Amino acid sequence: MNDFIPVNEPLLDGSEKRYLLQCIESGWISSDGPFVREFEQRFAARVGRRHAVAVANGTAALDIAVDALGVGPGDEVILPTFTIISCITQIVRSGATPVLVDSDPETWNMDLEAIESRITSNTKALLVPHIFGLPVDMRRITDLARRHGLRVIEDAAEMHGQTCGGAPCGSFGDVSVFSFYANKHITTGEGGMLVTDDAELAEVFRSLRNLCFQPQRRFVHERLGWNYRMTNMQAALGLAQLERLDEFVARKRRMGQLYTELLRDVPGLQLPLAATAFADNIYWVYGIVLDESTGLDASAMMARLQAAGVGTRPFFYPMHLQPVLRGRGWFRSERYPVAERLALRGLYVPSGMALSEQQIERVAARIRECLR
Ligand SMILES: *Cc1c(COP(=O)(O)O)cnc(C)c1O
Repeated sequence: MNDFIPVNEPLLDGSEKRYLLQCIESGWISSDGPFVREFEQRFAARVGRRHAVAVANGTAALDIAVDALGVGPGDEVILPTFTIISCITQIVRSGATPVLVDSDPETWNMDLEAIESRITSNTKALLVPHIFGLPVDMRRITDLARRHGLRVIEDAAEMHGQTCGGAPCGSFGDVSVFSFYANKHITTGEGGMLVTDDAELAEVFRSLRNLCFQPQRRFVHERLGWNYRMTNMQAALGLAQLERLDEFVARKRRMGQLYTELLRDVPGLQLPLAATAFADNIYWVYGIVLDESTGLDASAMMARLQAAGVGTRPFFYPMHLQPVLRGRGWFRSERYPVAERLALRGLYVPSGMALSEQQIERVAARIRECLR
């Protein structure tokens, strides 16, 4: 189908080529290269942090964050059930206990009211992903953490350029992580970043990223790490993309506002909130939730849109329903009705950076037709 509208497509027409060419011409293609340091420094400055450590992807950044905070057997970490599996894998692998909370039905972020009742004397950390475009109220999170002596991992993988109460997403908690996968606001193809104000923690991140090689005795290891290094080529892309972050964010906001204008009067559709008290929506993806009155669930709607030439993706599938986790005995009697409904009835429509206004108009028209 020639005019099929893909769900995601990055925009690469700035200085990416020039920087990449510099990598090739200089021979700096591995992680030993000047763009890595420069990307880290510029990124740290952009989110108002002292230290940034670039890694292979956002999942790697979460693995390192959880491990660096010393999460292990006997510890509990609280996170939402409605998120990507990257948030939970290292918690489970470390032998710690993941403790879930449901979501807010309007923002789709973790339900802050539910957190306090889940805190025990074993709770070590809160892992807080911002979902789809609206930030979690991070001041409430950091306040909770301070009162209970908890560490905070902020997952800002969908939040480049977003703020919360005026402060950049990525500036909250002990550590914040980002992803630069091809569908994020800025991309390096694959890539991720950890940011923190804690110099010691940043050193642990660097070590864990690089197999915990020791400067003095390189092949003698005191701790298990990973090879999660970012290449100079990825960092070159990232630097070029970072220079355009404000333009990208403005573009995403316009796209989201246009979708909302075109879909506002369609019955049976829940659209993303335009704003909360803390931020205007950045619309990382444009999600829609079908009301029961439509008689359609997300998979039926996705099939119809696919046939009409429109790419979609389902919403996250909740952690407490994941076969791989239930198979290990986790969450078997737990229910989270908001997350379950979002998974059943939510999908997102084309939201890539390269999407044109004409394409958005076509997507909106197809959505109307599919619901008639
Ligand atoms: C994309 C994403 C990740 C994972 O990033 P990858 O680079 O794909 O590994 C983690 N958390 C959230 C909230 C994400 O959206």
